[in-house]
Amino acid sequence: MTTHPGPTGTNLAGLRDHNAALVLGLLRAAPEGGSRVGLAARTGLTPQAIGKITARLLAEGMIEEAGQSASTGGKPRTLLRLRAEAACAVGVHLERDELTVLLVDLTGRRLHLHTRPVAADIAPGDAVRLVADGIRRAAEALPEGARLLGAGIGCRGPLDHAAGVLHWFTPAGPRGSSDWHHYPLRDELAARLDGLPVVVDKDTNTAALGEAPAAPRPGGGLAYVHLAAGLGAGLLLDGALHRGTRTNAGEFGHQTVQVDGPLCTCGNHGCLEVLCLAALERGDHAAAARLVGVGVANLVRLLDIDRVVLGGRAVLAAPDTYLDGVTAQLEARIPDPEWQPVPVTLAAAGHLAVAAGAAELVLGPLFGRRT
Ligand SMILES: [Zn+2]
Repeated sequence: MTTHPGPTGTNLAGLRDHNAALVLGLLRAAPEGGSRVGLAARTGLTPQAIGKITARLLAEGMIEEAGQSASTGGKPRTLLRLRAEAACAVGVHLERDELTVLLVDLTGRRLHLHTRPVAADIAPGDAVRLVADGIRRAAEALPEGARLLGAGIGCRGPLDHAAGVLHWFTPAGPRGSSDWHHYPLRDELAARLDGLPVVVDKDTNTAALGEAPAAPRPGGGLAYVHLAAGLGAGLLLDGALHRGTRTNAGEFGHQTVQVDGPLCTCGNHGCLEVLCLAALERGDHAAAARLVGVGVANLVRLLDIDRVVLGGRAVLAAPDTYLDGVTAQLEARIPDPEWQPVPVTLAAAGHLAVAAGAAELVLGPLFGRRT
């Protein structure tokens, strides 16, 4: 039997969890609640199937009754809504110099947030201790009776998302230690947290996920572009993160834009990142924005992206400069911008974009999201 998980439900036995996720996803998107009749219509499931699923979710405490729908002449319906405090997830942003830890409920509401500095030359074992302590501290803010589903960790790449292993081959790099190369961050953290599910992904990927709580329209694409100590991008294509075979997609900063240009940390010359960082070094955000815009236009032409989100410390230091600079390059470089309009916005979660998206890595699958 082949199954094709899609936007509609299926009444086949054995796909109970997929259908329950579909129902939870619809209720997550409707804070005012939804009726069983409405859920049946939206999912294509039979009223009997919806009755069974909602009974189970009510018994599990994942959803609750929320009064009656306003009467429009017909019979008022009992509304069901997500119990936001039924479960929570931790989102972590491990940066080169700072750790951010966030606890959110099922709707993404922030229940706890703390940040602390991280030494640039910290050893991996010490960093894992810091992160584990941060997750435990966040877990103290769990509402009574709430389950902690897991922790998502967003950090710089390259890394292997599937294995949770870092590939920071930087013997003389900013971390100052090659101990980070091949470091099994996910398993080391899970071991310190009594087996709590841990998911590790690139910071740009988690931020992209967090910026699109509802999946883009089928066929649509979103690029999250992050400029801080490095330049990268996370890609949401057809509603799912595009990681590539080795979680190596989105190495946006290492596209060559100046053959024989200055040497980049990656070993190549004239990468977009090395040119951007040089502009930032001069304090020239306008030049950095123009360069990011050139890269974004390349990306849009390559992948037919239809929404661009900008984030990262450098962008947030001069947001209008980056919005204007990138928009100007898109208008200049896309042959027919009226036919291919690409709105450019700032990360809605601002400095918390990576941490909030990291929590969504854990929450998303509960709602049928492919993360
Ligand atoms: Zn490079």
